[in-house]
Amino acid sequence: MIDFSLTPEQEAIQKMARDFAQAEIIPVAAQYDRSGEFPHEIVKKAFQAGLVYGPIPEKYGGGGLGAVDQLLIAEELSAGCAGISTAVAINSLAAIPLVNHGSTEQKERYLGSACREEKLMALCVTEPGTGSDVSALSTSARRLNGEYLLNGSKCFITNGGVADYYIVFATVDRSLGHRGITAFVVPREADGVSVGKKEDKMGQRAADTTDVIFDEVVVPAADRIGEEGEGFRIIMQTFNQSRPGVAASAVGLARSALDQALDYALEREQFGVPIFMHQSIMFMLADMARDIAAGRLLAWQAAWKGEQGLDNSTEAAMAKVFCGDMVMRVTTDAVQVYGGYGYVKDYPVEKLMRDAKVFQIYEGTAQVQRLLIGRALAREKKR
Ligand SMILES: Cc1cc2nc3c(=O)[nH]c(=O)nc-3n(C[C@H](O)[C@H](O)[C@H](O)COP(=O)(O)OP(=O)(O)OC[C@H]3O[C@@H](n4cnc5c(N)ncnc54)[C@H](O)[C@@H]3O)c2cc1C
Repeated sequence: MIDFSLTPEQEAIQKMARDFAQAEIIPVAAQYDRSGEFPHEIVKKAFQAGLVYGPIPEKYGGGGLGAVDQLLIAEELSAGCAGISTAVAINSLAAIPLVNHGSTEQKERYLGSACREEKLMALCVTEPGTGSDVSALSTSARRLNGEYLLNGSKCFITNGGVADYYIVFATVDRSLGHRGITAFVVPREADGVSVGKKEDKMGQRAADTTDVIFDEVVVPAADRIGEEGEGFRIIMQTFNQSRPGVAASAVGLARSALDQALDYALEREQFGVPIFMHQSIMFMLADMARDIAAGRLLAWQAAWKGEQGLDNSTEAAMAKVFCGDMVMRVTTDAVQVYGGYGYVKDYPVEKLMRDAKVFQIYEGTAQVQRLLIGRALAREKKR
């Protein structure tokens, strides 16, 4: 059965997130874009509104929300500002390994603390030498008297400078390739953890992106998530859950670009008529609306399938790559609709185009998503 209608609860979640974006995000989005500061105040208000840890079960203080519910929030917050939305959403994304694979003690301690004490989390996978090829990561976890000694550097970590807890992926034996990768939860206050360079980014500037360094950090075995060697599977599962949300964020940003461009096209006159009446502009706007709707459906499908406990890896990759490319195209066209005014910072679409680019990069690049889809096609053929 196919049903695209939202439940009354989902409509309420959507409205609450939309109202939050209107009241708390939109008025300050440009200011945070200029300063590149982390939006502590807004994240605090998002905690109070129950928008930060949606997927964490209620018994640990989270929202107990489903995957599709999360997409509704992601789209609305991102329509307000993609950078601020990322600063909020990364927390629940980083919590996914603990939600899925944490022990009861870990969940009580870390998820409970994150929700009830408003602690922030970050997911540490990428390293200077290892981006797309996650299986080659080199941060080491050496066993030592029932504990682990972590050494290595992570880069491009969202929330890196502000997180209280890091979910860290390291290898217990690099020669094992992806079979050596193991996940850990590491408190920021642990000896040997330090925050490195903060990136000065093109877009999504309100989201904090830094290096995080682990230097002889002692991690108790009780803080290992899952078994040794299970880390790669945990990362991939996490991405299958998070990519539909990232796609929905791209939809929100694209929706905002269409909204601005449509207003402008209906108002701005050239050759005696609103530019909307020139067919090339009207068709550009029509294509934007079409692609946004298609992206939303792909994201919802991927989230729904995951929520049913079905393998959604291909759908998640399709949603992520489609929406990443779509938001880049839509925001670029929005700048085009504005003409010269689109290229200057006094008008809103310039920021939207800068914010869009990273959707083709983080959470697995556009090329990596195509690799995943291509491999799935070949697997299907061989069956
Ligand atoms: C703003 C921002 C926030 C981020 N947040 C986080 C975070 O919170 N946690 C985290 O762990 N990481 C994070 N990342 C890192 C991000 O996931 C990586 O940048 C991304 O996976 C790509 O890795 P890379 O930058 O090393 O590029 P590379 O892997 O070096 O890729 C460079 C280029 O080569 C292409 N390429 C690579 N391999 C292939 C292939 N096999 N086939 C075809 N093309 C290929 C890529 O698509 C890309 O175009 C973030 C990055 C940014 C920019």
